[in-house]
Amino acid sequence: MSAWRTIRYRAEQEAERSAKKGIERMKWEDNIRKITPYTPGEQPNGRNVIKLNTNENPYPPAPGVADQLVMLNLDQMRLYPAFPEQTKLAEALAKHYQIQKDQLFIGVGSDDVLSLAFMTFFQSKRPVFFPDITYSFYDVWADLYRIPYETKALDENFCIRPEDYRQPNGGVVFPNPNAPTGVLMDLRQVEEIIEANRDVVVIVDEAYIDFGGISCLPLIRKYDNLLVVQTFSKSRSMAGMRIGYAMGNPKLIGYLNDVKYAVNSYTLNYAALQLGVEAVKDEAYFRENCDKIVTTRRHAEEALRRLGFVFPKSYGNFIFASHKVVEAREIFEKLKENDIYVRWWNKKGIDNYLRITIGTEEQMEALYRALEKICGQNSNLR
Ligand SMILES: *Cc1c(COP(=O)(O)O)cnc(C)c1O
Repeated sequence: MSAWRTIRYRAEQEAERSAKKGIERMKWEDNIRKITPYTPGEQPNGRNVIKLNTNENPYPPAPGVADQLVMLNLDQMRLYPAFPEQTKLAEALAKHYQIQKDQLFIGVGSDDVLSLAFMTFFQSKRPVFFPDITYSFYDVWADLYRIPYETKALDENFCIRPEDYRQPNGGVVFPNPNAPTGVLMDLRQVEEIIEANRDVVVIVDEAYIDFGGISCLPLIRKYDNLLVVQTFSKSRSMAGMRIGYAMGNPKLIGYLNDVKYAVNSYTLNYAALQLGVEAVKDEAYFRENCDKIVTTRRHAEEALRRLGFVFPKSYGNFIFASHKVVEAREIFEKLKENDIYVRWWNKKGIDNYLRITIGTEEQMEALYRALEKICGQNSNLR
């Protein structure tokens, strides 16, 4: 008997529930794929709000991106784009990371890359392991692709426990730093997990690695089962252009390409491929942009602590914070009344936490002023 918990697909449970409640369903609904989709943070439109809810970068992309934008060639838009790995973007990324182009896969944001990686690498009957508190897309993809999975509890300090990932499994995926906690696992522990799982693919989602963490990228030379995924959305200020990439052993990348070209060969569009190059080329701007976020994050730690918040040390462009007295939901709603958006999940274990994206210094000052009013006499508790 297998000791593994078999995850029942949430959508099927939902279907059962509505059947019990006697909600009428159409016949065709019996045989379609049903899924509970990922819920992104709100994108309030057309209002002048302070948006600290989706970990977007508050600063513009590198100046070269704007220059390149006006140079885009309309005639190129008539044509299908080149395969991403044959483009200047692949060259720029390979050069930046000092890897070969065949160690690189480029996709439409890292969500696209991760989704393809789930489809490609998680084909075992054994459950895929990931943390119970983590990027909320993982269980959505697992459900969608009918991948069995098992979540592993974080410890009381929101840390991943490498020893939990030692049992037989069908693959491992985790973000480092983790989302939405911001907690960074040290490289030795990351390697420990990879080392213990040589017979499956281990995906390390490094969406936030540029804000002070150390990438495990060099380990791709040592471990052919390691896939490192990164994105232009956070540290390169280009969430709207949808550029993500994965790095790994050429054989691993080859399998990813096979699935990708079987599904939809042309994905990244011509503009994204051109503009992405400029963001990678401007190393100085990139460093400066990340440094600004890290500095503001340090200021935010001080300010939030003064206001009565507690939080784990974050290595992302956000802080995952809980107030000692005032409930997260109340703060979340009152901030929204003040046109300040942060992220709150109505989910057991984290429902007294807010994930606050690091904005500009000015945006953060406005946040502290609002929090001062909301948490008021409950501040300065220490
Ligand atoms: C933001 C994020 C992503 C996805 O980023 P894309 O915009 O799709 O590149 C992936 N993983 C984690 C943990 C993230 O926070």
